[in-house]
Amino acid sequence: MTRTAIIGAGPCGLALLHAFEKARADGADVGEVVCFEKQSDWGGLWNYTWRTGLDEHGDPVHGSMYRYLWSNGPKECLEFADYTFDEHFGTPIPSFPPREVLYDYIVGRAKKSNVREAIRFETPVRAVSFDPDTQMFSVTTESFPERVLRTESFDYVVVATGHFSMPNVPEYPGFESFPGRILHAHDFRDAAEFAGKDLLLMGSSYSAEDIALQTLKYGARSVTIAYRTAPMGFGWPDGITEVPALQRVDGRTATFADGSTRDVDAIILCTGYLHHFPFLDPDLRLVTANTLYPPGLYKGVVWAANPKLLYLGMQDQYYTFNMFDAQAFYARDVILGRAQLPDAATMAADIEHWLTRLDGLNGCMDEIDFQTDYVRDLMALTDYPSFDLDLVRRHFIAWEHDKQESITGYRDKSFSSPCTGTVAPAPRVPWWQEMDDSLAKFLQK
Ligand SMILES: Cc1cc2nc3c(=O)[nH]c(=O)nc-3n(C[C@H](O)[C@H](O)[C@H](O)COP(=O)(O)OP(=O)(O)OC[C@H]3O[C@@H](n4cnc5c(N)ncnc54)[C@H](O)[C@@H]3O)c2cc1C
Repeated sequence: MTRTAIIGAGPCGLALLHAFEKARADGADVGEVVCFEKQSDWGGLWNYTWRTGLDEHGDPVHGSMYRYLWSNGPKECLEFADYTFDEHFGTPIPSFPPREVLYDYIVGRAKKSNVREAIRFETPVRAVSFDPDTQMFSVTTESFPERVLRTESFDYVVVATGHFSMPNVPEYPGFESFPGRILHAHDFRDAAEFAGKDLLLMGSSYSAEDIALQTLKYGARSVTIAYRTAPMGFGWPDGITEVPALQRVDGRTATFADGSTRDVDAIILCTGYLHHFPFLDPDLRLVTANTLYPPGLYKGVVWAANPKLLYLGMQDQYYTFNMFDAQAFYARDVILGRAQLPDAATMAADIEHWLTRLDGLNGCMDEIDFQTDYVRDLMALTDYPSFDLDLVRRHFIAWEHDKQESITGYRDKSFSSPCTGTVAPAPRVPWWQEMDDSLAKFLQK
């Protein structure tokens, strides 16, 4: 019997369990599928935790999400093709839901496909190695409840542990004597903590953009964003300004590359995350920056150097849940032998083709087209139900324009579903004024 280990029960791991369940329901022999999850519940990053640093078992906390996190892209761009928002909520809902609503949606499908019993919770994977003679993986896990280590053999290993949990933490002159708090975005939880404060944020990507808005919305006196290469350039509300790179801090005075200075009370490092797989033998580890096409992965999924090892969700992400689904359906079909892999040279040439195109991209519109074509390519290889991918592409482009038009207003826009055509209603309260991020408030008529 084929044994498959899935590491992580976030959106990617759940997508693969769901794909296997679908095949099983259609009568396929899927062998034994076991998902190991280090947290006590499913949903990955969407399973909010107040904890930072170490968890209750002394392991690094996985969660990087914070209170008052609303989706930063339209929900219609991530909709599961086989479990629509209409099916889950029974009524149209606005396009930019808060975290709890998306968590409810993810978990809703997982409950429907009845995959929970395949997950061993509170069981981190500690070591994975591959034996070329037996062609089997050795997977060592730790059961927190039992406090035991266990080693089992698997034919396939699928890594679905995400890549937004291990912070990339730079050091600047003066940090050691800065009198306030210095934290990475990974440890940011509640914007209200910074009410009345002058903040310095470092970075120029989604975290810096969103944490700047959140902290100002919940009462920060001022937010200064220091960028390294280029400013984000949005029409920021009063109170947020962008400045060139930080040079040093002296006491609480920050000095920037243009010579300007600001006195700040706290520094939040929105400086990105590292792909981090300490549990894998070094020769099995994906080594990559955050990019739309990590090298070495055929179809962005299969570890070309050893196709019995697969990775899900390792790309930088415009597309999320529906891309994870397409990847999961493909991974399942590779494991079940339904999708035949070509020889090593053909896989390498395919990877090279995508990497060459990646090299020539210029800006976010090109990136959206690239990832749209990637998802299209994957979908052609699987029986993941089709949805209007061209509409999703147009939604992403409209969303980028909306953000340029109003960075505080883009979440009030409505989009149509690429699966059902349902047009989302406008939110009852504009996002910039809405302080309550609960599911109950969001679904209130
Ligand atoms: C702050 C923030 C905001 C975001 N906002 C959005 C958004 O608005 N919209 C959107 O679509 N996407 C958003 N994302 C992107 C997010 O990456 C995806 O939505 C999604 O969570 C990725 O799913 P995943 O399964 O790959 O990883 P994760 O969600 O990270 O799940 C990985 C799982 O693996 C488990 N795990 C890790 N190591 C081990 C181990 N050794 N053994 C066992 N289990 C392990 C973890 O506990 C976790 O449950 C956001 C990300 C961040 C950090």
